[in-house]
Amino acid sequence: MRLVILGGPGAGKGTQAELLCSNLSIPLLAIGEILRAQIAEATDFGNLVMPYVESGELVPDEILIQFFGSRLLMPDVSNGWLLEGYPRTAFQAEELDFLLEDLAQQLDWAIWLKVPHEVLVKRSIERSRSDDHPEILQRRLALFEERTIPILEYYDRRSKLLTIDGDRSPEKVHQDLLKFLKQQVS
Ligand code: AMP
Repeated sequence: MRLVILGGPGAGKGTQAELLCSNLSIPLLAIGEILRAQIAEATDFGNLVMPYVESGELVPDEILIQFFGSRLLMPDVSNGWLLEGYPRTAFQAEELDFLLEDLAQQLDWAIWLKVPHEVLVKRSIERSRSDDHPEILQRRLALFEERTIPILEYYDRRSKLLTIDGDRSPEKVHQDLLKFLKQQVS
């Protein structure tokens, strides 16, 4: 199964991604972690992306498109994967589809962990450092929402969007997700 997981900061993406990957036995490709590991190992790729990651800027699309172009050819991901943190823009979503077309593969679902704005604010405040201003958190969330809506529309138009109520306990969200995905394969 090939999946993408989408959700705001504090939506529970990381938790759900890990639970799904272990239950479905598919590898997790979490781009933020991959980038940080490459930087820590000082690989050529790590050195290339370091200035962007360290300044909090998005890594240019061409770099990530090229990265996934070779990463998705590797044998460990030939039977499926779950992407976390990518795509982050509608352009990246479209580029991912082009890439999958070249590989004669298809995305099964883009999972949208839907959590009300005020819950994300509350969770972000709980997770944040004391010197993070509420206005900055609000701004971060607003930017996220602005960028995410076009991705949701992109997948919805292609009937690939799976919207899950993420405002529940992690166990409940996971059970629902698993039930839906297992129905699709049986
Ligand atoms: P994250 O762990 O998701 O916050 O990502 C850490 C950093 O990695 C971001 O600040 C960006 O520099 C970079 N990054 C992660 N995902 C993407 C993406 N989809 N497109 C561009 N840059 C990304």
